[in-house]
Amino acid sequence: MDIKEQILQLRDELSQHNYNYYVLDTPSISDFEFDTKLKQLQALETAHPQYYDASSPTLRVGGEVTKNFETVVHAQRMYSLDNSYSKEDLMDWETRLRKMVDGPIQYTCELKYDGASISLTYENGLLVQALTRGDGTQGDNVTANIKTIKSVPLKLRGDYPDKFEIRGEIVLPFEGFNAMNAERIAAGEEPYKNPRNTASGSLKLQDSAEVAKRPLECLLYSIVGDNIAIKTQFENLEKAGSWGFKVPAIAKLTDSIDGVLEFVNYWDTHRHELPYETDGVVIKVNSLYQQAELGYTAKAPRWAMAYKFKAEQVSTRLEHISYQVGRTGAITPVANLQPVELAGTIVKRASLHNADQIEKLDVRIGDWVYVEKGGEIIPKIMGVDLDRRPAESIETVYISSCPECDTPLVRNEGEAQHYCPNDVGCTPQIIGRIQHYISRKALDIEGLGGETVALLVHEGLIRDYADLYELTADRIIHLDRMAEKSADNLVKGVQASKDVPFERVLFGLGIRYVGETVAKKLAKHYKSIEALSKATLEDLEQVDEIGIKIAESVVDFFSTEANVQLVSRLILYGLQLQLSEEALSNQSTQLEGLRFVVSGVFETVSRDELKALIDSNGGKVVSSISAKTSYVVAGANMGPSKRSKAESLQVPIISEQAFLEMID
Ligand code: AMP
Ligand code: ZN
Repeated sequence: MDIKEQILQLRDELSQHNYNYYVLDTPSISDFEFDTKLKQLQALETAHPQYYDASSPTLRVGGEVTKNFETVVHAQRMYSLDNSYSKEDLMDWETRLRKMVDGPIQYTCELKYDGASISLTYENGLLVQALTRGDGTQGDNVTANIKTIKSVPLKLRGDYPDKFEIRGEIVLPFEGFNAMNAERIAAGEEPYKNPRNTASGSLKLQDSAEVAKRPLECLLYSIVGDNIAIKTQFENLEKAGSWGFKVPAIAKLTDSIDGVLEFVNYWDTHRHELPYETDGVVIKVNSLYQQAELGYTAKAPRWAMAYKFKAEQVSTRLEHISYQVGRTGAITPVANLQPVELAGTIVKRASLHNADQIEKLDVRIGDWVYVEKGGEIIPKIMGVDLDRRPAESIETVYISSCPECDTPLVRNEGEAQHYCPNDVGCTPQIIGRIQHYISRKALDIEGLGGETVALLVHEGLIRDYADLYELTADRIIHLDRMAEKSADNLVKGVQASKDVPFERVLFGLGIRYVGETVAKKLAKHYKSIEALSKATLEDLEQVDEIGIKIAESVVDFFSTEANVQLVSRLILYGLQLQLSEEALSNQSTQLEGLRFVVSGVFETVSRDELKALIDSNGGKVVSSISAKTSYVVAGANMGPSKRSKAESLQVPIISEQAFLEMID
């Protein structure tokens, strides 16, 4: 088989597996096999750029960067929907319809997905453009980002029209949303508020490789175009499915408003079983002929109607407010409620977010409060039923000192959260840091769980993660629920963690804003904790993808004596606080001492691959051009300001090709 055939075959095969997995939800190959084949294809494509294809599955990983999204006028306006809230509203709608069209009316009922609307254009079976709704008349061109969403076909199958648009919704399923938040919390960052905002925010990220990492899905429900041989909305969905699109599996065809209401009532109670957020049902006149007769108002189609589910809300009594202290010292006020059923679960607690929120709502102990469950994991307090406020109620005063250690709280300029600054002496912070240190993505210590950590701290056996390495079986064997076997396992697990690679130890240190990915970047760039601890703000900020917030936090960490002590003890106990010999020797040193700025869009390698090549050859990728920059590797669309800056500092600008020759 020649190279071209090999490439084509791999592309077909990988596209099929993608389709099976992301559209049909029936995986047909292991992740490992998939990755192996993808790497194979990537290597072939890099070596033979003449076979570039904009629909290759390798483009799913992203890498294209869009600084300013181009505004594009929609070929056909993207409308909003009229809303209804009751059976009466729907009956009124039907009466209006009957005055405008003849004959029986059928309706398709679909779920109303709560995400970001999108319009995709296909020409000759290839995705050529993806636009956000924008103001309905014009939207943003987010094609590079949309291409990374695996359920969006890059190339169609079956018998599709030459040119058409298809519209739908980008959603972030709960599972993926929760996983993203777990990672943010582990990195000491604020969790995202809800899946919808996160989905629409994702579409506007500048780096498509970041979008590729987010588990977004695309659900499509309407085809727009001229001369398309489709007669009904229901057929619309079926056809789109046969061309390879992910269409909603749940849709119903009915010929009466009663049938519509059955669908509405069923999903009003069962929607919590769905993997993503829905906020209602969309009812559409099924016949496209009748749709054309009905047309549009200024704002919405006359042939469609949204039925909004009521946000589930209950009222219950606020029993007391407690304050939690996180591992970074952040204080979160929590409303403890008289238990009440909401959306199928018993709610006992709700988040009050911060002091401002309490003040804004003016919630007081003893109040009857309205609790609502939206996309958030923890229910929210929406307001207070003032009619039921007890006469003797007193205004809530936010705590001024830590509920655990009594240290006066601080609140940094511009931040909503209060903090307990006593990081060395505050028990929940101590426990939280050690729990983070032993967690799966950090040191992953076998035989030691979060509760045991709390017990060890309470018993005075450990106060920081370095203390773990001084534990012996006979010191812990007397503890509750600790048999000889588990004491041994714990000690063994702790000892084994000395082999965990540097980047995970670095993540485990719990430096604020240094999550898993940032830890990897820093480990690679600085190679040892020693070098990292000496880095200045300016130096850190130069590291690719490291911003000022992270840089400040790192400098702050290493300027605290207690942390320096802690790290030197870890070194003493034999933890990996530098890259291993192996990781270092895998690195070529061809680019040793050189600093690169990467700018623009590349042809044979993606931006990320290019950076990885610089990295693995011993060079450094930095984010902005300065006199210390050795080279700027420029692709297409390099910004003019970067170019003139490089020129004025006399930093050589080289092409992708010239760079590749450098390391060859
Ligand atoms: P609204 O933004 O409340 O006016 O609702 C209109 C939006 O609902 C549309 O722009 C779509 O993005 C979205 N939507 C979600 N699911 C559907 C669906 N099944 N059919 C039509 N629109 C939908
Ligand atoms: Zn405290």
